[in-house]
Amino acid sequence: MTGKTHRTLGIASGTLACAAYAQNSYSPSTLFASLAISYFGSLLPDIDRSASLIWESLPFGKTAGKVVDPFFKHRNITHSLLGLALFNFAVLGLTRIFPDYWLIDANVLFLVFFVSYGSHLVADMFTEEGIPLFFPMKKMIGIPPKPFESVRIVTGKWFENLIIYPAVNVGLILVIVLYWQKIRVILFK
Ligand SMILES: [Zn+2]
Repeated sequence: MTGKTHRTLGIASGTLACAAYAQNSYSPSTLFASLAISYFGSLLPDIDRSASLIWESLPFGKTAGKVVDPFFKHRNITHSLLGLALFNFAVLGLTRIFPDYWLIDANVLFLVFFVSYGSHLVADMFTEEGIPLFFPMKKMIGIPPKPFESVRIVTGKWFENLIIYPAVNVGLILVIVLYWQKIRVILFK
């Protein structure tokens, strides 16, 4: 899938996880941090490709992406359960150094990162290449499995642009509408 689809899907699923889990007593900062982490979590697996949206989102990212690009094969460890676990561990460590007065709930961030990063892996499983889900095993796993891989989605082509991308945008709007009461209470106490 392309970066824009991953980003919208990640923000939609991250917001859903945050809103479903959050309590009314949570601070607005937890909500904003969840939004930021779902943005980066949804794009992070493509850090193994220099022309990806994650590099474009970072300062000097385009140059840095070109430097690291020769060292990585696209769709490798970052597109696996091992990568998900390692990055989630890193996020857990990161949230531990947040000062208490930021009032950010670490459990929510952990959950939101897991869901948004996971949404990227699931989405890429529907594409024709599949992903090495059980890395270091090299076998590419996709949905539907072989021998039905011919119906999988081709990244950046009409089905993604005309069906999937609009659908995930509608999904994001639905999440906001469904949880608007809770989001409003957290934002404007
Ligand atoms: Zn990817």
